[in-house]
Amino acid sequence: MRLKLNITGLVQGVGFRPFVFRLAEELGLKGYVLNDTSGVLIEVEGGKERLDEFLLRVEKDRPGISKIYSLRHSFLEDAGFQKFEILESRAGEEKRALVLPDIAVCEECLTEVTAPKNRRFLYPFTNCTDCGPRFTIIERLPYDRKNTSMKNFLMCPDCQKEYNLPGDRRFHAQPDACHICGPLVSAYDRNANLLCRTDEAIERATNLIRRGHIVAVKGLGGYHLICDATNEGPVVRLRERKQRDEKPMAVMFPDLESIKKEAHLSMIEERAVRSIERPIVIVRKREKTILADSVSPDNATVGVFLPYTPLHYLILKKLKKPIVATSANISDEPIAKDEADAFARLSEIADCFLTHNREIVRRCDDSVVRIVSERQMPVRRSRGFAPLPLMLPFKFKKPVLALGPHMNNTIALGIDEKVFLSQHIGDLDTPLAMEYYEETIRDFLRLFDVKPEIVVSDLHPGYHSTGYGEKYFHDRLVKAQHHFCHILSCMAENEVPEDVRVTGFAFDGTGYGTDDTIWGGEVLVASYRGFNRAYHLQPFKLPGGEKAVKEPFRTAFSLLYETFGERVRDFGFVPLSEEEKNFYINMMKKGVNSPATTSMGRLFDGVASILGLKHKASYHAQAAISLEQAALKSDETGSYQFVVKNNMIYQFPVIDRLVDDLIKGVDKEAIAKKFHNTVVEMILKISELIREETGIKTVALSGGVFQNALLLEDSFNKLRERGFTPLMHQSVPPNDGGISLGQAVYSRFL
Ligand code: ZN
Ligand code: ZN
Ligand code: FE
Repeated sequence: MRLKLNITGLVQGVGFRPFVFRLAEELGLKGYVLNDTSGVLIEVEGGKERLDEFLLRVEKDRPGISKIYSLRHSFLEDAGFQKFEILESRAGEEKRALVLPDIAVCEECLTEVTAPKNRRFLYPFTNCTDCGPRFTIIERLPYDRKNTSMKNFLMCPDCQKEYNLPGDRRFHAQPDACHICGPLVSAYDRNANLLCRTDEAIERATNLIRRGHIVAVKGLGGYHLICDATNEGPVVRLRERKQRDEKPMAVMFPDLESIKKEAHLSMIEERAVRSIERPIVIVRKREKTILADSVSPDNATVGVFLPYTPLHYLILKKLKKPIVATSANISDEPIAKDEADAFARLSEIADCFLTHNREIVRRCDDSVVRIVSERQMPVRRSRGFAPLPLMLPFKFKKPVLALGPHMNNTIALGIDEKVFLSQHIGDLDTPLAMEYYEETIRDFLRLFDVKPEIVVSDLHPGYHSTGYGEKYFHDRLVKAQHHFCHILSCMAENEVPEDVRVTGFAFDGTGYGTDDTIWGGEVLVASYRGFNRAYHLQPFKLPGGEKAVKEPFRTAFSLLYETFGERVRDFGFVPLSEEEKNFYINMMKKGVNSPATTSMGRLFDGVASILGLKHKASYHAQAAISLEQAALKSDETGSYQFVVKNNMIYQFPVIDRLVDDLIKGVDKEAIAKKFHNTVVEMILKISELIREETGIKTVALSGGVFQNALLLEDSFNKLRERGFTPLMHQSVPPNDGGISLGQAVYSRFL
């Protein structure tokens, strides 16, 4: 296996390459290290365990004077290196100034903040050249103070001295500041009346959190809504006010030890939690935990993270217990970032506002990752990662703008061999979201100073992103099929060579097909240049169309009806009256508002509802998640039989057998597990069929359904055992957050 690392930071001219060389030699790894325009690039090959150790130690044992601002890694197929060597720096590359992501507060700065004699004692905006805000304060390049939202803060003589002193840790630290000259926090009540400032404000906010109140805290890339995570009352209140019924909320802990008390952390999960990007990491809760049930109800997992600014540290240090820290918005609107916006939108939610006077230039939500098959899979790629580019194995001939999809939107710019992916923008359902979307496009084009010659949108005529493309870039717009883009994104980040074809499993909720129907359970035989829809689920109807997303019982009823016909009237699995059953049957018979789909996401939803796990979803994919949660409780190894004929995957035999089990009284966890096993078997079987026919051994797994760790891990490991080369996501999410990358790649091979 090969481990690839892109590191940015102070890693040139500090003995970093010799250190990497020695470490690789010690671990018996082959490969190379070189300096490139953004830092160092390392590739090492060897066994997974040795590579994991390398990954941990390259951070831990690095030369004392080196600094890491970002470290991105992925595990790839080996390239057959013969030895380890230090290679010549890459020359001739265009120097495009990199905009760094926001960097978590460093140890030195934290020490200062907690040292009573230090002049920055308790100063919540302490930062240095090695840490602090970047992406969220930059207005334009070059990255100088006057081009950031620090421009209005005139440095005091002490800060100025540090800033000018070459040997100082704050030499040219653009956001350098202190109590005297820098941004300050203030506390306000919900009616925007000033309560108090500075230390007192933090004290006040913390006390309110302790007493069960909800506080809106202005952080790095937007406001968080914060409350005591160990107290049921405030967590439930926060859910009610935020109109967020059951979707899990992330929890920020004072330190690593306190996380370990509430959750199981593998070595790799621990690395992710501590990593400089400080993402939210989805991990398994302990049986006994002090976390309130309603933090992640009916869910064995919870998203945990560590503080990444001194302000968060100060709050948690006083509080000494975990807090819910969730994006400050109502349902799926963009996160609030300035005071006016926060007071307008959050006054009904928060009891108090802890804000500050450093402007957030652009929003950036927290990133979310999950560890699957001992690899780090992004669920949301945002703070800490954006806007660093992905390096592709090929070059764009013309600059491209990819507009992304509708859900979980991100946009992307393809320039040379780089793809700059935006922060998480989210679902484009509301006017506010569209405003944020358009802002982000203009922002990226300006920041990276590029005029796109090709613009790519989704094929879906109803997406606002497609509409945007048609309105502003009509003359250079191309449209790309959604599931092909999922597979392209997976191929590109895994560096699939140009002449290789893959079997791509694109399993997701919905995407617009080339035949104008709704796809979502697709097997594509694909190269970068095109695809052939080799297999897909047998289409089934969604009575009420899009409504089925929030009401999986509709899908369940349809699956049952198409499997059992009129007998469905006798079944009590779906909570419908006689009349309602007639209504839906008529709808489907007459084809009224009952579009057909091949969606794997809906199939998971529908099965969850048939099992009685979830008939209505209060957030995206909730029913499918409940099915995964149920399956995790079973060690059942059996499966049901999919029938694969011509290019169709028939799911009805599965529904038939599954209902049989249900009637027999087999427990739901076992059925849920059997269903998962069935989908894994189906992936294996179809991969075999395609390999026999074409010799294709590479299998890409993409689409939102593969956020299901059980399904992904099992498919990935078993494909490997059978001699395939499975590819999973490690740089962009498998969900629609990765579509913009796929779109950019699509334009390159037109
Ligand atoms: Zn620092
Ligand atoms: Zn100062
Ligand atoms: Fe999708």
